[in-house]
Amino acid sequence: MGGCSPSQNEEPFLNLDKKSMLKSSTTTGGGCAATCNTILVVISIFVSIIVLTTYPTPKSTYHNLYTSLPFSDNTSISQNLFSLTRRPHVAGTQANADTAAYVLSTLSSYTVPSHITSYQVSLTYPISRILTLTRPSPDDTSTIKFDLRQEIYTGDPYSDVAGEVLPTFHAYAKSGTVAGQVIYVNYGRVEDYDTLKAMGVNVSGSIALARYGQIFRGDIVRHAYDAGAVAVVVFTDTKDYGGGGGEGSKWFPDDKWMPPSGVQVGTVYGGTGDPTTPGWTSTSDCERLSVDEVEMRGELPLIPSLPVSAADGDAIIRSIGGQVAGDDWQGGINAPVYRVGPGPGFLNLSYTGTQVVATIQNVFGVIEGSEEPDRFVLLGNHRDAWTFGAVDPNSGTAALLEVARRLGKLKKRGWRPRRTIIFCNWDAEEYGLVGSTEWVEENREMLASRVVAYLNVDCAVSGAGFHASATPQLDELLKQAAQKVQDPDNSSQTMYDSWISSNDSSKIGRLGGGGSDYAPFVQHIGVPSVDMFYGGGYAVYHSMYDDFIWMKKFGDPMFHRHVAVASIWGLVALKLADEEILPFNYVSYAQDLQASTKEFEDEVASMGISLIPLYSSIEKLKKSAIKINQQIKVIEESRFWLSSLWKKDRMEVRELNDRFLMAERAFTDRDGLLGRSWYKHLIYGPSKHDDYGSKSFPGIDDAIEKAKILNTPESWHSVQHEIWRVARVVTDASLVLSGKLT
Ligand SMILES: [Zn+2]
Repeated sequence: MGGCSPSQNEEPFLNLDKKSMLKSSTTTGGGCAATCNTILVVISIFVSIIVLTTYPTPKSTYHNLYTSLPFSDNTSISQNLFSLTRRPHVAGTQANADTAAYVLSTLSSYTVPSHITSYQVSLTYPISRILTLTRPSPDDTSTIKFDLRQEIYTGDPYSDVAGEVLPTFHAYAKSGTVAGQVIYVNYGRVEDYDTLKAMGVNVSGSIALARYGQIFRGDIVRHAYDAGAVAVVVFTDTKDYGGGGGEGSKWFPDDKWMPPSGVQVGTVYGGTGDPTTPGWTSTSDCERLSVDEVEMRGELPLIPSLPVSAADGDAIIRSIGGQVAGDDWQGGINAPVYRVGPGPGFLNLSYTGTQVVATIQNVFGVIEGSEEPDRFVLLGNHRDAWTFGAVDPNSGTAALLEVARRLGKLKKRGWRPRRTIIFCNWDAEEYGLVGSTEWVEENREMLASRVVAYLNVDCAVSGAGFHASATPQLDELLKQAAQKVQDPDNSSQTMYDSWISSNDSSKIGRLGGGGSDYAPFVQHIGVPSVDMFYGGGYAVYHSMYDDFIWMKKFGDPMFHRHVAVASIWGLVALKLADEEILPFNYVSYAQDLQASTKEFEDEVASMGISLIPLYSSIEKLKKSAIKINQQIKVIEESRFWLSSLWKKDRMEVRELNDRFLMAERAFTDRDGLLGRSWYKHLIYGPSKHDDYGSKSFPGIDDAIEKAKILNTPESWHSVQHEIWRVARVVTDASLVLSGKLT
């Protein structure tokens, strides 16, 4: 796999090993007599001990070593990725239990003590799928029975295990047999159904054909149900995933694009965690909701759905007549004209899935803190994949193991973190963040009082370009860390240089979406969090072509981007674990809240709604944030070299840090979002119409949307109520930050 950085045999450029430092000091001494030598040796050992205890190696020296290129290793990253992705490993299967064992033993081999925590969770697998298309036109009345298979290409090194790839399906899809005329619904968004309505097209009783790409697939199914469709077929459009089509089009393995037979599978469950145990832990003997009770909660689809390939989508599109769809609804070059229907193309769709209670495994690695072992810095990534998972998620798993490998090496050189570092390798993320959510639900109180931050990486690498999201008190830390890491695509600059020069991606995103395992930490218990990756959307996502060959050819041929992710991820963790005063800044939080509040101004001004309560609570937060920052300055300036040994001083710092970590918890509310009570965070949550989309103040947003439809005094009053609710949690956070009882 090659690369710029040496492998395990590297010569460390800086040897921090205290033993060898002592050893070298004992070998000085030259021409004295034997007794003289002994005295010198004793004195020099004594002096060394004094020096080493009084001036331990500064943590920053270890941090610099951590990000140094000779310390990183792209070879072991690529080897780990290769091993993890040898077979498809869907949650609940033996193959995925095997990857858990691999992660466990690899962590142990890096001297990181590790263990597995299992849960019994409700998962679904496909049993049978039938999809036929009839084209009742005068010159073509043939019926196509789609084979719903992803093709193995000539020379595919994974052809021996291709049979282990699950048949294409949607996890938690509703079983059923339905038939109906097809209607093309574009990306299946709310606005797409508005367009159809305006065109006079009635979706009721038909089968919706939607294309992937703009919103979470579970919301595609839900919107189709809301519009009256009896089923949904979701296809991969060549325009979005196939390189646009056109002459000489190439696809995997010749190019990065999705082959015509490629299918994006995935969950259509809109909730978080095991759907049968909402809010509590899934164990073998726990209470479980019945299918009816789960359906009542409105998070599982109520009509059947199937994902299909670009080729099958094209065949269905060609069977649809009626009005020509708008320009932004059309396909790529050489695609037929997309029409909306209904029909005359007619689909018969039958899907049967089985719901089973399966065992999943979360793997943990723990490096215990030396001074504050009861404060936790968590690094998380999921391991389960829909197929081979080279990008999603094992590029992240390989990066996680690289962080562990480097920290193991630091340990050998004498480093111990101040706080405890925990590696979390989640299972069943793909089904709906199941592994992470069950663990958060099981350990809610302990996590809420002890976790400093949660740092998530799902797909570490799918191409070039760094992206990051965070709760705002971590913005500055993230930027500082990016300044210490070399840009993997241009060695003359840092990650930060390339990040800020690409204007659109330099903006740090927020963590309201439900797309990965940060969601239970941020949105359920209010833990400061980060999520980051290289690349972004990639064509073979959730298909059987997301394998090691794709990564090696197109995603990260030299594994340098993986190295960079491991560097910034580990460095942020090191800062949070080692710095005596937590590197948080809530001024950024207040600024972010202020900007988000401004966005509501136009919408509510004419309705007599006041944003003043929210603005004044943000002002309080800002004042508290400035005050705590000043307090840090005073502590730092008043220090002299031994003062950190004073107990009073240590308690002061601990109390200040507690305020930092508990302030985020204050943004959560016991009742949660109206109608979505699992989501406790009132600042960041998923968009109601796209689980992948992040919303600021989701409760206010929901209320405004409802009020716009109902337009009654009561509905506008509830907008004001939601503004008050948010203002109260922001005020709570400012009180926590100030550390004073009222
Ligand atoms: Zn993933």
